[in-house]
Amino acid sequence: MMASKGQTVAWVVLLAVILALVAVGRLTTAGEEPLLIPRGRNPANIFGGMPCSLQVAVPADRIELGNKANDRAIQAIHDVDARMSTYKDDSELSLLNTAPAGQLVPLSPETLSVLRSARELHKQTDEAFDVTVRPLIELWKDAAQRNELPTSGAIAEAREASRWQQIRLNPTGAVKQESTSRIDLGGIAKGYGVDQAVEAMQQAGAEHGLVEIGGDIRCFGHPARGGKWRVAVRNPFNRGFLAQLLLNNQAVCTSGNYERFSEIEGKRYSHIIDPRTGQPVDAAPSVTVVAPTAMTADAWATALSVLGEDGLRLLEGREGVEALLVIGTPADHRIRMTPGFGKLLAPDTPLPEAKSITTTVAVSR
Ligand code: AMP
Ligand code: MG
Repeated sequence: MMASKGQTVAWVVLLAVILALVAVGRLTTAGEEPLLIPRGRNPANIFGGMPCSLQVAVPADRIELGNKANDRAIQAIHDVDARMSTYKDDSELSLLNTAPAGQLVPLSPETLSVLRSARELHKQTDEAFDVTVRPLIELWKDAAQRNELPTSGAIAEAREASRWQQIRLNPTGAVKQESTSRIDLGGIAKGYGVDQAVEAMQQAGAEHGLVEIGGDIRCFGHPARGGKWRVAVRNPFNRGFLAQLLLNNQAVCTSGNYERFSEIEGKRYSHIIDPRTGQPVDAAPSVTVVAPTAMTADAWATALSVLGEDGLRLLEGREGVEALLVIGTPADHRIRMTPGFGKLLAPDTPLPEAKSITTTVAVSR
């Protein structure tokens, strides 16, 4: 409900910060109206400690609607975390990971739908997005703890231990062909959680809002001040902003090795694994993807971190999916993006630091 012309537009923006109020996300929203922060709505640890925030913009006389939308969205995020977290021993995913071969592990329709999407994205991304890399992730985590690189034999073994071919999905659950198969939804469940929260808000009657989990964002309607939602993309090298995007009814996710990484023998390693080599990736320090849903943006950001700029060709013909990659080192880097991504950049802040970088449009569509 919009205020009529001449009237003061009375909007109330509610911000519920779930884990932390600090804006440590790789993407941050910028330029919103002052926020009203309801207390006592911060649920417990989710997604292994990701900072989350939700905003619902409602007319001043409909605060109850905002509160209801917020509560439902938080519940939706909780549900996703409870089902798909690898940090919780009793999640559906953990039960699947510890199950023996040949046993049907019952899964909720939600978890099954994320697994089916993950399998589809595995195909779409030339197998760069592969949620079956869990044993490799554990191997590299363990290597970081011991401060010793894994052997090539251990890498090959971890790769063989778990593959999509070893997992059957049926209408009520999944069956592993090998007991060693394990799945990690860390590259897609956050985005799915954002989508579920947005859906819950909309079902509660909210027309405008934004949800963020650990830098994965989806917005709908428009912010309190009107116009489009403004989202800033961080420069991976100096923590400043690289670009600002104007979005509505879109999701945007960034994968980067500058925030989540581990160190082994004095060198930094990404938390994203190249399934083809078993090695942590170093193709692109930062990848930002805009898509209609956060799940799609989340998975593609992880996939393009593996593929680098060669992966941009895979976006040709994918409606509404656009990407920006920062490639190289702090001393020598460049930006590559799809032409459609350029159209999302806020005209008042055109790639502020691009003068020191080569900016090229790499994909013709
Ligand atoms: P993101 O921060 O969204 O790029 O997700 C990174 C997370 O995805 C990692 O922490 C792993 O849990 C998981 N992951 C790592 N490598 C891959 C991969 N090649 N395909 C799918 N998921 C991955
Ligand atoms: Mg991702």
